[in-house]
Amino acid sequence: MFKKILIANRGEIALRVIRACRELGIASVAIHSTADADAMHVRMADESVCIGPPSSTDSYLDISRIIAACEITGAEAVHPGYGFLSENANFSQILHDHGIAFIGPSAEHINIMGDKITAIETMKKLGVPCVPGSGGGVPDLETARKIAGEIGYPVIVKATAGGGGRGMRVANSAKEIDVAFQSARQEAKGAFGNDECYIEKYLQKPRHIEIQVLGDGKGYGVHLGERDCSLQRRHQKVFEEAPSPALSAELRAEIGATCAKAIADISYSGAGTIEFLYEDEQFFFIEMNTRLQVEHPVTESIFGVDLVLEQIRVAAGLPISFKQEDLEINGHSIEVRINAEKLPEFRPSPGKVTAYHAPGGLGVRMDSAIYAGYSIPPYYDSLIGKLIVHAPTREAALRRLDRALGELIVDGIDTTTPLFHALLQEEDIQTGNYSIHWLEKWLEANAAD
Ligand code: ADP
Repeated sequence: MFKKILIANRGEIALRVIRACRELGIASVAIHSTADADAMHVRMADESVCIGPPSSTDSYLDISRIIAACEITGAEAVHPGYGFLSENANFSQILHDHGIAFIGPSAEHINIMGDKITAIETMKKLGVPCVPGSGGGVPDLETARKIAGEIGYPVIVKATAGGGGRGMRVANSAKEIDVAFQSARQEAKGAFGNDECYIEKYLQKPRHIEIQVLGDGKGYGVHLGERDCSLQRRHQKVFEEAPSPALSAELRAEIGATCAKAIADISYSGAGTIEFLYEDEQFFFIEMNTRLQVEHPVTESIFGVDLVLEQIRVAAGLPISFKQEDLEINGHSIEVRINAEKLPEFRPSPGKVTAYHAPGGLGVRMDSAIYAGYSIPPYYDSLIGKLIVHAPTREAALRRLDRALGELIVDGIDTTTPLFHALLQEEDIQTGNYSIHWLEKWLEANAAD
């Protein structure tokens, strides 16, 4: 097992990894920008290294500075968290070349899944069901018109290098394809430096259902069921739950087995998430994330496993500490993302937290790196905490969430907490009757009030 791990991240996820390290008896190293000198991950880690100015490009994304921090501290492995360099194949490769372990899959697998077109091709070959679409990059507008016509409208144009909901445009009819194709390309070029796009059937009322997988890198893989992340704003998840209120045990076992076999077949190493759209009892693969997800705690809650611990074990060459047949779903779990944002516009609201009280009690987990007196810097993601509840049933989990939200105090800045109070009053949320478009429609209707 490793003796020292460097965490190439910040915020709640850095804390999450430090906690796992501590329980394993592994020393932890935090890295931070000058803007994060007072951040909780720096205080909580055993050691810390300042690696640059506030801009992430010159700090959390600067590979050479991170390698230098590993060398200075003698860290043998790096956990990348999510975001930043977590899906950067180059980073994984360079660490490897320096004899430092990357806690994540191989550079080859990150590359395959990071390009959505090769990801779809690979998954298709592995027997995973995909969305009907162009099957490859669409070179020009003329081809885009032809392919969109063949697939049938509505269609969605997506950037092959896409992520974070960017580089996607819907065309509802032939009249809209020119603008959709050109603007998706333009946005992709600006955001990812790669304007290649492909076209898929645009599903009208799907749910976003993702399967958590873990591979040992030696041909064994398990699945840990699904998370339903259909409640999204601008293609970004805000509320996640496990299990999905829409899935039967049979369908779960079937899609789970398909995913576990797919990652076993490629000898995938570490944690990953295979994302699907789900409509009329059918699954359609959209992408695979080769890292830990923000919403991983709901899976941890219902299975009683520590996914970060398993990631570290696998990276150290140890087997996953359980087998598929050992896993059993226990109850229901929900996570809400508390962002430093002012409603109703979701405008970033950084600044000083004057008071903070985290909710507690049975079945409540608050993953956050804020504290009273902490100033949230304006340079990074607005996620400041994740409130996760676990209860024997979905109904009880919703009540527990309502109770826990009522206990949460974050003064001095605006947060998205009121959104969740309001959502919990909605019948569709109470019954689990929502698709990926539900939240956008609800927000529109409520803005008009
Ligand atoms: P990103 O990598 O940017 O997160 P994804 O491919 O995971 O992009 O898609 C993000 C979200 O966009 C999905 O959860 C879904 O809401 C929507 N979406 C993507 N593809 C489709 C599709 N074919 N039909 C309908 N909605 C889609």
